[in-house]
Amino acid sequence: MPQIKSLISYIEKLSSQEQDQLMCYLEEILTLDKRADQITEEVMESRFSRGKICPHCNSNTISKNGKYNGKQRYICKSCGKTFNDFTHSAIYMSKKPLDKWLEYAKCMINGYSIRKCAEIVGINIATSFFWRHKLLDAIRLFIGIGSVKGIVEADEIFLTESFKGNHKNSKNFKLPRNAHKRGEDLKNKGISKDHICVATAMDRQGNIIMELLCKGKMTHQELKRLYTGRITNNSILCTDSDKRYNHFAIDLSLGYKPIKGGYHKEGIYHIQHISSLRSKFKKWIYKFHGVATKYLNNYIYWFKWLQYYKNDKDIVKIKNLIVQSNVVYCDVKTADYKTRKPSFI
Ligand SMILES: [Zn+2]
Repeated sequence: MPQIKSLISYIEKLSSQEQDQLMCYLEEILTLDKRADQITEEVMESRFSRGKICPHCNSNTISKNGKYNGKQRYICKSCGKTFNDFTHSAIYMSKKPLDKWLEYAKCMINGYSIRKCAEIVGINIATSFFWRHKLLDAIRLFIGIGSVKGIVEADEIFLTESFKGNHKNSKNFKLPRNAHKRGEDLKNKGISKDHICVATAMDRQGNIIMELLCKGKMTHQELKRLYTGRITNNSILCTDSDKRYNHFAIDLSLGYKPIKGGYHKEGIYHIQHISSLRSKFKKWIYKFHGVATKYLNNYIYWFKWLQYYKNDKDIVKIKNLIVQSNVVYCDVKTADYKTRKPSFI
């Protein structure tokens, strides 16, 4: 096998970083094709971890009802409706095979635009848009707002409100002002009601809360509304020296460490992790050239999800994105996206 020998000697000359890249690539091409069956099985096991239950009425009196398009169907003896393992999941209504969704998930992990994802996967741009938001709506439901504990760093990010995608001449929609081109970050620069406040908190275990909080500057009541029950008692809140955090820390009986000047460190108390998360988010969201405010929450959860799995190999991320987005019952109809409004916590 002279070809194999020369290939091996070629591989040996690569740097260790190049060898790692090659390894990841080989792993993907050799295993992605075989993933579809494994994913179907994982979705099924997670969805029905307490036995087969009807997704329409929650009854457990189920029997098999033949196959349709190669997929096992079931019938509920209680409500008479049929279902399969993916009913009411993100990809349930899709006519495309699971491999296409895996390819799409890979594009999302790479942070590609809707257009680029469409080109690679071979779907049209409108479909690419719906796939992105169907997956993200489900991921949002799957990971949820979450909670933080212990030493908790908190901050906020301001982005200009964006009406991208709402057509100026639409009958149902009036632009309140000229649209900004980009979701420009405006921290500490004349914050007004045209700006969206994203609240962020992170603990030292890496748990993250990131939510669309309000328009304009936040009040301590808004902070309280988001964080009540989501920051464990006796936690210590580290923030910049904004009085609103002080006020809300007292209300929630949390320890409070205001960090003067932001970058100052008082031993283990500092806000460097949340500042770094904020910069990463800004850099990441900037690539999308302005995200409509009504879809901002989905992008925030996409970013949060990528943070949670940042140390995993791409192949694991692809699998997790598809499994997790199909375990939850979340089949948003394409028509629902047309009427979507920004959802503040
Ligand atoms: Zn039923």
